[in-house]
Amino acid sequence: MSDPASASAIISIDLDAVATNYGHIRSIAAGADVAGVVKANAYGVGMVPVARTLAAEGCRNFFVADPDEGATLRAALPDAAIYVTNGLMPGAGAAYRAHALSPCLGSLAEIEEWRREAALAGRALRAALHFDTGLSRLGFDEAETRRLIGSPASLAGLDITLVMSHLACSDEPAHPLNALQLARFKSIRAAFPAVPASFANTAGVLLGPDYCFDMVRPGYGLYGGIPAEGSPNPFHPAVRLEGRILQIRDVSAGSTAGYGASWKAEGPRRLAVVATGYADGYFRSLASAKGAGRVYIGGHYAPVAGRVSMDLLIIDLTGLPEEAARRGDLAELIGPHVTLDEVADRAGTIGYEVLTRLGDRAKRHYTGDRLTP
Ligand SMILES: *Cc1c(COP(=O)(O)O)cnc(C)c1O
Repeated sequence: MSDPASASAIISIDLDAVATNYGHIRSIAAGADVAGVVKANAYGVGMVPVARTLAAEGCRNFFVADPDEGATLRAALPDAAIYVTNGLMPGAGAAYRAHALSPCLGSLAEIEEWRREAALAGRALRAALHFDTGLSRLGFDEAETRRLIGSPASLAGLDITLVMSHLACSDEPAHPLNALQLARFKSIRAAFPAVPASFANTAGVLLGPDYCFDMVRPGYGLYGGIPAEGSPNPFHPAVRLEGRILQIRDVSAGSTAGYGASWKAEGPRRLAVVATGYADGYFRSLASAKGAGRVYIGGHYAPVAGRVSMDLLIIDLTGLPEEAARRGDLAELIGPHVTLDEVADRAGTIGYEVLTRLGDRAKRHYTGDRLTP
């Protein structure tokens, strides 16, 4: 195990947990094919190891955000179907073709451009059709959807392998927009009866079988987060962030700690300095001023004391047994005891942002029987 004593912060990624989470989604997805969403370096977790793990579990369809991510994935998975959710960027058709990427086309202009690329290629090129049903972000709007459905010839030269849409409020199961988007998507996909349909992200799968169609597109759940507020988490934590304790010191009543002296000891206190800071992805907003972050060390919780700095944070060990924390020990900042969603909530954000901001400095290591070279 690569856990050298010199590492300040360690990010451990459990690929078995990713595989288990994939299997769990398959078991509840009403028979739908389960794709893997691995954009943004698999939410900061590591695109290639995650994608290889999913492929070994039988995953054949992957989603990335842009063609550069697609090219990286293509090098690792020569046979997978790779969809690019940002669609076809103007003038970039050749790059998509070079790496056999399928754009998620979301406008008539993109269709025209991809058809020109198909003409150059002299063969049908694959693509998904992405319909906007309420997010007002990417995808055919209402008017273009009508035009497209009214003129199927406008898809000549393309091999449409998927019709898709994306939910705006899937993390709020009771939100009325879910059912409205579902109804809109059902009516659109009826115009393409022979093409597989995809609608649900992780939280969409949790909304139930009606939302699953032929293919589901989970991302966050694979990495262990629970996207829906207030629900028990059926996923296993896949990511752990640990920080090394550098010093332990006793301070007297009235001492302050950290930049801005925002924390003040109300009595004698024992503090530890942990070698992880916001440069490693531990949010500055987890400072004690907002009554926020806590870490797990030696079987106990300890609150963050004072501001989080770039490379360091301070925790308050007062009241913990002496053997709970020693110089050189690792404190769990994110993991099974301090969940991603807890950290995100305390930091005032979502776990997606916490994951994608994990820094490059931390030593990363991948664990799991499914680890492939
Ligand atoms: C990111 C993304 C997903 C995955 O969403 P999760 O909430 O992470 O499961 C699915 N579809 C599209 C279009 C996306 O952009």
